[in-house]
Amino acid sequence: MMPQRTTPVSAYPVALPSMLAGLLLAGSLLGSCWHASMTGLAVTAILELVFLLQYFRHRVNAHIAFTQRRPKSTPDRFMIRSRRLAASLNDLRVTASRLPDALVLIDSHDRVRWFNQAAERLLGLRRPDDRGVRLEARLARTELADWLHEGGIDPLNHVTAPGQPSRQLQVSLLPYGQQMRLLLARDISHMTRLEQVRRDFVANVSHELRTPLTVIHGYLELLDPEDMPEHVQILDEMRLQSKRMEQIVEDLLTLSRLETQNHVSEERVGMVPLLATLRKEAEALSQGRHTIVLENHCDRDLQGSMKDLHSALSNLVSNAIRYTSTGGSITIRWACSEAGAIYSVTDTGFGIAESHLARLTERFYRISSSRSRESGGTGLGLSIVKHVLNLHQARLEIRSVPGQGSTFACVFGPERLLKPENHELDALSGGHHD
Ligand code: ADP
Repeated sequence: MMPQRTTPVSAYPVALPSMLAGLLLAGSLLGSCWHASMTGLAVTAILELVFLLQYFRHRVNAHIAFTQRRPKSTPDRFMIRSRRLAASLNDLRVTASRLPDALVLIDSHDRVRWFNQAAERLLGLRRPDDRGVRLEARLARTELADWLHEGGIDPLNHVTAPGQPSRQLQVSLLPYGQQMRLLLARDISHMTRLEQVRRDFVANVSHELRTPLTVIHGYLELLDPEDMPEHVQILDEMRLQSKRMEQIVEDLLTLSRLETQNHVSEERVGMVPLLATLRKEAEALSQGRHTIVLENHCDRDLQGSMKDLHSALSNLVSNAIRYTSTGGSITIRWACSEAGAIYSVTDTGFGIAESHLARLTERFYRISSSRSRESGGTGLGLSIVKHVLNLHQARLEIRSVPGQGSTFACVFGPERLLKPENHELDALSGGHHD
């Protein structure tokens, strides 16, 4: 609501002429038209000045009143917040630009919008030339470009840094805003080096132990228990333990080799003969204590390393026998599935509680150390199985119910399956037999 005081001021333009007319009339009544006009003009001018002053004073007062009535801090708070926000954004930008991880913001057309200092160092990007260029084209002929070309869906590990070939990166692509993506590259060279040191250490220790253990084991074998009847038990125990140590060393060396390997030999692994061998081994190990069943439902061979696949698949059979009481049964099954083929070993043994399942493939992870040792285990078998399967792009699935038994299944993809050789001959001859 406007204040009362505005009335005379807003009336100012109307009041002025009527006042001038009134003054002229008064002057003429006084007898002098000229005097009357001059007086009228002078008074009008003075009054006009007074009204003008009043008018401006009112406007100033109204403005002050408005400023005082207005929520006092609206524009100030807005300004303060804007300034704070701008400062925070700037801090964030400065921090992001100095992060040790490389960051590259890519727009919906895969063009580089922004990158930080680490991206210059690790990815070799240059300012300002590389702003707006397609990242894939900029990193052409590198592992990273191939990965970007395939969509960069899964993070990429141990990739050589295009800007610093001596460094190793872990790279991932994250969605950013509506259409953009953020490439994040972390320098993992120190972790790779540590892993390498650990692998070398284990491999070297195992190698160093191998020769003295072979010598000790050899001499123990030479000793005749009949020459020392009072020490027969001790001799047996020494032989058993030296054999165990030899097996541990062999398994550690196998693991070291599998860890450093990136690919396997691509041989045909005939499943019919391999399954027959596995059954024979199972029977030899069981020595009639279990029922061994072999089911072959799939006419496909595997492609990969014969030696490593045999070692992994027989490990599962040996575990099934070692962790199943006498009278139990072991089923070795090879079956085709929609997404490839599955090799599985099912036993009616002790079973495994769910809480242990996720850790079973860790080195030396055992549910019961004494049971593992008594049955001649090294604690490295499932770790070897996992590595072999990884090298064949396959995975291990474990299902188990304590007290009822377990199934260890190796799931192979279709790219690892081969038609048996006689099928190929069929195909070559057009499928006709004379
Ligand atoms: P180990 O040489 O001790 O058998 P593995 O790596 O082969 O080592 O297995 C790890 C652990 O997993 C074993 O110690 C055992 O506790 C458990 N395990 C493996 N296979 C079976 C099975 N078929 N039934 C029950 N437990 C098993």
